[in-house]
Amino acid sequence: MPGEHAKLSASGSKRWLACPGSVVLEALFPESESPYAEEGTRAHELAEAKLRYLTGRIKLEDYDEAYRNIDKAIQPGGVIAEMERYVDVYIDYVMDLYDGLRLNHRDAVTFIEERVSYDEYVPGGFGRIDCIILAGKKLHIVDLKYGKGVAVDAVENPQPRLYALGALQEYGDIYDINQITTHIVQPRLNSITTENLTRSELEGWGESIKQVAADAYKDTRVYSAGDHCQFCRARATCRERARHYLSSILNILGGQK
Ligand code: SF4
Repeated sequence: MPGEHAKLSASGSKRWLACPGSVVLEALFPESESPYAEEGTRAHELAEAKLRYLTGRIKLEDYDEAYRNIDKAIQPGGVIAEMERYVDVYIDYVMDLYDGLRLNHRDAVTFIEERVSYDEYVPGGFGRIDCIILAGKKLHIVDLKYGKGVAVDAVENPQPRLYALGALQEYGDIYDINQITTHIVQPRLNSITTENLTRSELEGWGESIKQVAADAYKDTRVYSAGDHCQFCRARATCRERARHYLSSILNILGGQK
């Protein structure tokens, strides 16, 4: 979603956890919104409006107005009907999950686009969660991914885990949560993945990343290249990445002799 971003964002966590130095290096390159990112923003706006309407938070006329505004904002050539078809996969998933949980937990609640802080583990860490569902001792984090370039799996994924830590930080004292499920719904790749964790497993993982998060926040110059460089804004000029790929090439050539 547009707007403010944490220095150590959940969406960038795969990168900064693997390469804490990328935080200071990326800051040299201004963020620019690509057409794909903008498309993702519109899809999230549509999903948010629809879920708010279906859960009784807004009236039909407010939803219709939001729909028209999103339609107008879609890039020339974009078609909201196609976007809606994909967004509905996410909406159906969330509503089915919520309705299923309500069979045993009449007090199940949803939170939509809720801002949470995970700064007990990551300095200054906060983010917005597409959908949180709390039911009995269960916490569900549902994340919509509108992209279709790279498949994203919930398993061992730090982004939804950080969101879950944020939800625990927010609601863990009010609700007796002991089971966490993170869900990633990526409709354009026909992919839905989940990860189940106990509360102590999730909090143990949070403890395990505290030091690297603190180093990244303090602008350490420790770099490490790998797959996570793919979305780093510094990748075109990064010496560590160049060194990494040069040594990979030399290793391949050496193996061919
Ligand atoms: S390109 Fe890779 S190695 Fe370089 S700063 Fe970014 S993530 Fe780190």
